[in-house]
Amino acid sequence: MVSERVTKIGASPTLKIAAKAKAMKAEGIDVADLSVGEPDFPTPENVKAAAIKAIEQNFTKYTENDGIPELRKAVCQRLKEDYGLDYKPNEVLVSSGAKNSLFNLVQAIVNEGDEVIIPAPYWVTYPECVNLAKGKPVIVETREEDGFILTPEQLRAAITPSTRALILNNPNNPTGATYNREQLEALAEVIRKEDIYIIADEIYSKLIYDGFQFVSFAALGEDIKKKTIIITGVSKSYSMTGWRIGFAVGPAEIISAMSKIQSHTTSNACSISQKASVEALTGPQYEVNRMVAEFQRRRNYVLMRLQQIPGISCFKPQGAFYVFPNVKSFYGKEAGGIQIRNSYGLAYYLLREARVAIVPGDAFGADDYIRISYATSMENLEKGLDRIYEALSRIKTAKKVKKIYLQNYVTRVKRQVPVEVIAEGKMRDALVAEMESHLGYENYYDWNANINGTIVQLRTNVGHLYDFWVENWFPAQIEAGLEPHAVIYAVDNVPGREPRAYYHPETRTGIMVNSDHYGSLRKLALGMVLDSQEHLGINAIRGLAVAVDSSGLVLVGQPGTKKTELFFELLKKPRVQAQSNEIIFVRFSGSKAIADSVERKFYIPTNTVELNDKLSRLFDHSKCENVVMRREDCTDRTCPIQEECRLDKGAPYCFRASADAYAMLDPNWIAGPQGFIRRTNLKSLVILRNDQVSPAVVELKKEEALRILESGEPSGAVKSISSKTQPFFNPHLLVWNEDKLALQRMFFSRLLDHVKCYLVNSGMATSEDLFRGTP
Ligand code: PMP
Repeated sequence: MVSERVTKIGASPTLKIAAKAKAMKAEGIDVADLSVGEPDFPTPENVKAAAIKAIEQNFTKYTENDGIPELRKAVCQRLKEDYGLDYKPNEVLVSSGAKNSLFNLVQAIVNEGDEVIIPAPYWVTYPECVNLAKGKPVIVETREEDGFILTPEQLRAAITPSTRALILNNPNNPTGATYNREQLEALAEVIRKEDIYIIADEIYSKLIYDGFQFVSFAALGEDIKKKTIIITGVSKSYSMTGWRIGFAVGPAEIISAMSKIQSHTTSNACSISQKASVEALTGPQYEVNRMVAEFQRRRNYVLMRLQQIPGISCFKPQGAFYVFPNVKSFYGKEAGGIQIRNSYGLAYYLLREARVAIVPGDAFGADDYIRISYATSMENLEKGLDRIYEALSRIKTAKKVKKIYLQNYVTRVKRQVPVEVIAEGKMRDALVAEMESHLGYENYYDWNANINGTIVQLRTNVGHLYDFWVENWFPAQIEAGLEPHAVIYAVDNVPGREPRAYYHPETRTGIMVNSDHYGSLRKLALGMVLDSQEHLGINAIRGLAVAVDSSGLVLVGQPGTKKTELFFELLKKPRVQAQSNEIIFVRFSGSKAIADSVERKFYIPTNTVELNDKLSRLFDHSKCENVVMRREDCTDRTCPIQEECRLDKGAPYCFRASADAYAMLDPNWIAGPQGFIRRTNLKSLVILRNDQVSPAVVELKKEEALRILESGEPSGAVKSISSKTQPFFNPHLLVWNEDKLALQRMFFSRLLDHVKCYLVNSGMATSEDLFRGTP
């Protein structure tokens, strides 16, 4: 399992478009690639010669961890000469590229939960770098009308007691915006009063145009210098991206902390590249100037061409090698039958229809824009802009803009929260008092649900939970003075508490703290009701239930046994009615086992969307939780259409993109009023396994069935209580001890006197087999 820290972050999206463009080029398609993030010039000859010399002299071993002394000295000299900065070699750390410098720095200064202010549009790596250090990126959007410059007011407003640092990228990737001295001074004034660091990413400092005077943030005074760490390198200025050399320059204490991290990760940067970088920094600088002059010529050309495209406006940048045109006017319009909704949609349109690769602005936190790089030949720029012009002029106002009905709520907490059973009344009372004090009068919702006859009252301050709760359960109006049988507090925004749930069986009190996830609330409610009805001889079976010619059949099994697939297969048969997609409550009445579905709606994962033709349309009209609306939130690594992702093409959402997305589906909608049944006489229990060897259908004897049910394993090997496998396939069970086990055993033993039990191999069996094998 990949750690959560890493599953949370997306791979660099810049690479995705570039990779697609590369694949197209490999197929012989002529793509104008305007997505590149590196100069197209060769590394200067003197630099290459220095590297060859280093190899000849066998300078091929580990070097000093922090970088060779002559390179650290050369960095100091350059900063002195170019920007008047005084640094000593022990204030310089040489790393494997500026990206590596940034990573070391953020790891060195950011504690868990620390906030790092990142003005948007931002270079894609900043937020993820902060996330990897368990910090919290605080994105502040700069405005095009301010020239994409962070204002002192915006900075002041973003600083909190948790702020640790500001990342200031000057000149900026992707906008090309460059701060003048006055603008920097204004920010410095705010910072003087605060105890925060400035991460000054000045990697593009040499690439500036129109005679602009670059000012380093560290040059704003000794006090500011003490709070500033400059990130720079040779990648961009000397066309040395592949050599992987970057520098961090700042207070010795920070540099030495970063050095410790480096000593355990990459050690020193490449020895040969270090020697080459000494030459780059100390040798003649005219190659840099030549490159800058050429970039300026290209920038002017690109701006001129963009001006001629109706619907595009573009800010004039004075640094780096990107322009960042505003393309919002094309959104909501149509081309080639596809509606363009966002920058990803436009990027894919341009790649497919115009064979031009650019980077969608959303990757930089600014969806109204695209990034065009002019670090490519004039010929390529001409070709690319001709094609952009042609392709954008084909975009038309959509004939009918498809209305989006989807009612989706994205929760902060996406997975089941752990439930802790509390025995002590005192602890319950303290928790309830704490919850009551946070509920307040505003935003306070309560509603009584009738769950299989048990009245459960929800008290919450989360609108979404209330909304889903009311949608999901049958109402239980209680008269004044009558108490509900059970109460659940679902309280969010309680300081100092992790998302978690508690259950106190004696008073039938449930408490869910700091989670807005309905799935967790529903599970807690079902578990509580189950626990309270057990002594009445009522139990629940967790599985998918149908009626075949009015007789109940329930499918149970561990994840991966294709329960849901089989359920939808069965529903296609005329003799089959749907009962529940998750749980049925069962009680005995004379010789019958009566199974009830107790929810008004199916709370169903939307990644089932392909199992039935109607689902997509029905989910569209259902209340949903956590449907993915942005490509970077997609967690479906098995998606077969990754290359042709519908979100990339501008679709507003994708139902299969996350296993955490659920819809509140009205069962009548899938099955029709005749196709849905609430109560059955349960006749068959089907335990599923999925392999390539076992027979399709085996009828089980009672003892064998009981053993398999109890262990939760088709092999029937009895597991200990602490085992991860859910006994009786039921993860809703809250309290679990020998007495409870005995009650469950008794229930299922009785059930097996009423129903036939089959072990079905979904790897072999079809729904036809199920039909044949079961009554
Ligand atoms: N900072 C910014 C703003 C950049 O755009 C880049 C490269 N795209 C880097 C840092 C990283 O540079 P390097 O290749 O030296 O790691």
